[in-house]
Amino acid sequence: MSPDVNCARSHAPIIIAHRGASGYLPEHTLAAKALAVGMGADYVEQDVVITRDGVPIVTHDIYLEDVTDIAARFPGRARADGHHYAIDFTLAELRTVIRHERVDDAGHEVFRDRFPPSGVHFGIVTLAEEIEFVQGLNRSAGKNVGLYTEVKYPAWHRGEGQDITRIVLDMLAHYGYRRRADEVYFQCFDALELKRARQELRSDLKFVQLIGENAWKESSTDYDAMRTDHGMADVATYADGIGPEITQLVEWRPGGGLVVKDLGRWAHARGLAIHPYTHRVDSLPANAPDSGSVLATLFDQVRVDGLFTDFTDVVARHLAARRR
Ligand code: CA
Repeated sequence: MSPDVNCARSHAPIIIAHRGASGYLPEHTLAAKALAVGMGADYVEQDVVITRDGVPIVTHDIYLEDVTDIAARFPGRARADGHHYAIDFTLAELRTVIRHERVDDAGHEVFRDRFPPSGVHFGIVTLAEEIEFVQGLNRSAGKNVGLYTEVKYPAWHRGEGQDITRIVLDMLAHYGYRRRADEVYFQCFDALELKRARQELRSDLKFVQLIGENAWKESSTDYDAMRTDHGMADVATYADGIGPEITQLVEWRPGGGLVVKDLGRWAHARGLAIHPYTHRVDSLPANAPDSGSVLATLFDQVRVDGLFTDFTDVVARHLAARRR
């Protein structure tokens, strides 16, 4: 397919609110999602994991101690590796947990200028609640914001007895998201799972293949093989786009200058949309001079079709200025 006739690429780049407006409010809270919608996001992201009673909830990691008070609230409920896994708790138990800004293993805030520790009761949100929240805001605000939904660690979830992909696809279908024309992107790092969702589960949603590094051990997928012309041809057989890390598309050199890599060209040549992650004004790619030049490089040189950002407002202003 010629890139010129790919409808996924004929529109203005889309702004994907990465875990919500997470630069300003704790990630995956409804407050962060509302702010993102108000700031002009085209899509808000859901990372999904499953509870002990099979309920899909919106949170980034399969364990919860980095973004909630679960360790203090449920002492003795960690596994041998020290983690409090969402799948070991019922939704009723998780309703008592309070989310906060992300902290590292030592308990220090990962982003030091973001939302401070507080007495605000940010709760755990189910996928159903989040869908109803976005659909409700779309109606009340006259918008058409889409969902950008990721299933986390599907192979691990199946090993724990939960078919997360089937659960999430069924819930999306229940809320009216069934076809490519519907306002949802379904994303996953696991290529086998996306192929299964397309071929065995017969999903017709827009799919985005997330691309990591093999060292991250996100899935059994070989990302080195994927980041080739041949790899992009394979991805194009089941997905509509790719979600690479920004530095897999372009690297900034120490002391100035940059290198645009071949991945973007290979992807576009196969008709794949490119939605890299993650733009953060408080954590730029290595050696990048400033947020504005990162955005200019991505939109004008790599010609990405969308961008995951923690700062929806910054990207919205950049794109508005670019249109003028
Ligand atoms: Ca994600």
